[in-house]
Order: sequence, then C-alpha cells, then structure tokens
Amino acid sequence: MGMVMIKCPETGNAIPTGIEMDRDRFQCSAVFFSRTYCRMCAATHEWFAREAWVYETVLANRRSGGGQPFGSGAA
Ligand SMILES: [Zn+2]
Repeated sequence: MGMVMIKCPETGNAIPTGIEMDRDRFQCSAVFFSRTYCRMCAATHEWFAREAWVYETVLANRRSGGGQPFGSGAA
C-alpha cells in the first residue's frame, strides 16, 4: 500500500491526500477527481489522478509477517 500524494499548486510541496492505494491499482484505476485539504494553504485543492502519485509507505508493514501482536502473555 502507498499514500496518494499530490503537489500543492501554491507552495509546490507534496502533500498526502489521505488516500491509501496500491501503486499498481492506482495506475490501473480510471482517471478520478478528488479534493484534498492542504494545511499549508488552509485551503482545499482539487486534483486529478494524473497529477498525483503513490508514495510507498509500507516498509514497516513488510516486516510484520506473522501478524502477531506484541505483549504475548500479558493477558
Ligand atoms: Zn496548498
């Protein structure tokens, strides 16, 4: 999974949209349109999928293979 990012048209900074999606799925998805609130501008930016990209954030997830929680035996 990754986070869909857009470039703020005002500041040029990358801002996360809060949308999580696989990069493959994002590229295969139809062109869509969305809005994201930008903290830097305190405004809502409208954007198309072709202006966005997926920033992979799953590096931490990849390590937890078993899915076992911490603190076993704490019950
Ligand atoms: Zn902005």
